[in-house]
Amino acid sequence: MKPENDPRRLHLSSFAQSGGHLLGEERLAHFERLIAETQGVGAEARVHFSAHGEMRLGGDGVQQVWLRLSAQAALALTCQRCLGPAEVTVEFAREFRFVATEELAAVEDEVCEEDVLVISRAFNLLELIEDEFLMALPIAPMHDTCPVPVQLQAADADFDQGEDESPNPFAVLQQLKRNGPH
Ligand SMILES: [Zn+2]
Repeated sequence: MKPENDPRRLHLSSFAQSGGHLLGEERLAHFERLIAETQGVGAEARVHFSAHGEMRLGGDGVQQVWLRLSAQAALALTCQRCLGPAEVTVEFAREFRFVATEELAAVEDEVCEEDVLVISRAFNLLELIEDEFLMALPIAPMHDTCPVPVQLQAADADFDQGEDESPNPFAVLQQLKRNGPH
């Protein structure tokens, strides 16, 4: 790996000027904020990412530094139905434009459609990947089919019990007919 292609210290303008492409993976354990979402489950799972750098001509005729970033990971999120771990594939694909200063980034991020960030010679791509994952997490992760449908089982048991105790309505009807008006 070229030193400027280290995802922890990416030299963004060189990366974009050379049309750089970085394909990598990192242990989930590395992403502290992300693994907090899985209650520490799946530390050895891999986060896969792909980054492309490119220069694009801006409306003002000035070359701009762009980064296309996508990533994917299978995360053991907490199922909101049974509260067990549910493996959910989370992914995102986004484009970022880089500008020289924090002030410029703040202003342009407001008015432009794309995400605008501050350029750096030692940009931590993994931090950006983590930020994007946190935003891409489903609000209510759930199993398609919960392995232990705790709530449903409890409801079924109650229902069965209730049925055993209450008299069969048809039997009651028969009884009424038999004892009908004398
Ligand atoms: Zn579940």
